[in-house]
Amino acid sequence: MRRWDAIVVGAGPAGSSTAFRLAEAGASVLLLDRASFPRDKPCGGGVTPRALEHVPVPIDQVVEHVTTAVELRLGFRRAAVRGRGGPLAYMTQRRRLDALLAERAAGAGAELRDGVKVTGVEARNGGVVATAGGERLHGRTVVGADGVNGVTARALELGGNRSVDVALEGNVPNARIDRSRYDGRLLMELGTVPGGYGWVFPKGDHVNVGVGGDEREGPRLRAHLERLCRAHGIRIEELEDVRGYRLPHRAADSTLARGPALLAGDAAGLVDPLTGDGMFEAFLSGRFAAEAVTALLAGEAQTLDEYGARLSRRLAPHLWASWSFRAALDRFPRTAYTLAKGRLVWPVVEKLVTGEIADVGAARGIVRAPLGALTLLGRAAGNPGHAYKPA
Ligand SMILES: Cc1cc2nc3c(=O)[nH]c(=O)nc-3n(C[C@H](O)[C@H](O)[C@H](O)COP(=O)(O)OP(=O)(O)OC[C@H]3O[C@@H](n4cnc5c(N)ncnc54)[C@H](O)[C@@H]3O)c2cc1C
Repeated sequence: MRRWDAIVVGAGPAGSSTAFRLAEAGASVLLLDRASFPRDKPCGGGVTPRALEHVPVPIDQVVEHVTTAVELRLGFRRAAVRGRGGPLAYMTQRRRLDALLAERAAGAGAELRDGVKVTGVEARNGGVVATAGGERLHGRTVVGADGVNGVTARALELGGNRSVDVALEGNVPNARIDRSRYDGRLLMELGTVPGGYGWVFPKGDHVNVGVGGDEREGPRLRAHLERLCRAHGIRIEELEDVRGYRLPHRAADSTLARGPALLAGDAAGLVDPLTGDGMFEAFLSGRFAAEAVTALLAGEAQTLDEYGARLSRRLAPHLWASWSFRAALDRFPRTAYTLAKGRLVWPVVEKLVTGEIADVGAARGIVRAPLGALTLLGRAAGNPGHAYKPA
């Protein structure tokens, strides 16, 4: 009976980067995905510099546009353009990025089986058994990286979300818009969708337009998207490939690893509650996951349990601040917006996005005053992030 060192379920950013790292380290890896690649995934496709730091392979060949400025807008009226001139997001399409990552994982030695749906996973006799395509597949460990709609979290009684946001997005070909309006610029329309925002992200031959927010906004998402399109002179009928998807936010006390199993990326509910980004978290958790599995395979750890604690510690300050600022923006949009775009706070936001600082706690000096004011606003708005408050 074949027994892989690791079975990785899901070949998105979290799964493929984990599989690549493990295969590079000499482990035998089976990488399974129910979709056949190339496949698309609803996503703005913005890879921040801090996310890129944790991507184990170069992705230049699938980057279609680099944005160096943010147009931060409020309620379709106020606007401020910010940016020091360095890259703030590498714009790609998930169809291309994910195919590249899966291909690189296979190139490093992982056995990629796509078009194969995993229907069950169980921990058994110190290892794991995954059921896929009528076969029972054995592994010493399993990495659940099968996204928000996956099966591993439920099957292994891991994870658990406090809430799941919803989003709707589509693409407009450059020929139908004034493309120069968005060149080099990432546009965020705040104060328009409760719990979220609208965006316009430039790509190679099109722009991606979308709205996302609190799950209660589900029935109104199309109206939100229509409003965003109208404000930008786009007819909603001209949007191509319109699709919706979910963005999961883990509960603070959710268990991310037990015994020979762990969860990474969206399967673990790691999406940032303020920005909706999840690729930084997917790549970061992929790195931590590969390190935890490698330690177990080397006999340096008996379980993967420490992975959950390590990831929670690393993301806690970040989650706490994101939930706090999200609550502040929702309840006090004008004040929160004015503070966020201000000349003190904005440079901190930019340093977070670029990875120059790991979290807001690292910001020093006079900026602590407006950051404190934002925290107070978040608290007054009943900041749901207090459960993640770092030690
Ligand atoms: C509209 C929208 C816009 C977004 N924009 C951005 C953005 O601009 N920047 C950013 O950083 N993040 C963004 N995000 C978040 C980002 O898309 C996710 O956080 C990211 O895809 C998580 O990667 P993942 O590898 O964990 O999961 P996924 O990318 O969801 O990959 C999971 C994989 O598992 C496979 N799978 C699922 N079930 C099974 C099964 N039973 N058996 C086998 N395989 C299975 C799927 O086919 C899929 O390939 C956005 C999300 C949405 C919804």
